[in-house]
Amino acid sequence: MTAYDESNVFAKILRGEIPSKPVHEDEHALAFPDINPLGPTHILVIPKGKYVSFEDFAAKASEAEIVGFVRAIAETAKKAGLTQAEGGQGFRLIANAGPAAHQEVPHLHMHILGGGNLGPVGMQKSRDKA
Ligand code: AMP
Repeated sequence: MTAYDESNVFAKILRGEIPSKPVHEDEHALAFPDINPLGPTHILVIPKGKYVSFEDFAAKASEAEIVGFVRAIAETAKKAGLTQAEGGQGFRLIANAGPAAHQEVPHLHMHILGGGNLGPVGMQKSRDKA
């Protein structure tokens, strides 16, 4: 696994060098809209710690960071009005990890997609290729 790159765009957002409009922020995580939304609601949630990917986070993050990140994702979905408990229609979570998944930014981020009917998960193509 590659070492953490301090110059990645989400590290710059965390350091305040690039502006963002937080949807949610707490001790462990920051959530902000994706700059190139794939649907009506597309938010990214990132841990504040320096983790390259989900794989890196799962291996090295503390239990408090892991719980904090998961709860921050849920809180962000709630604030965006996507959770069924809040009357929303649901949402999809995606974390691309590594080159096969086309992870572009090497700081763990969870995509939250929602705001409409998302259709089934687009796995058919990769299954056909296998
Ligand atoms: P991934 O392919 O999973 O690494 O996704 C990276 C995501 O980061 C893409 O959906 C980009 O649109 C998004 N992105 C890149 N730069 C920014 C930025 N400055 N603010 C918000 N989203 C960004």
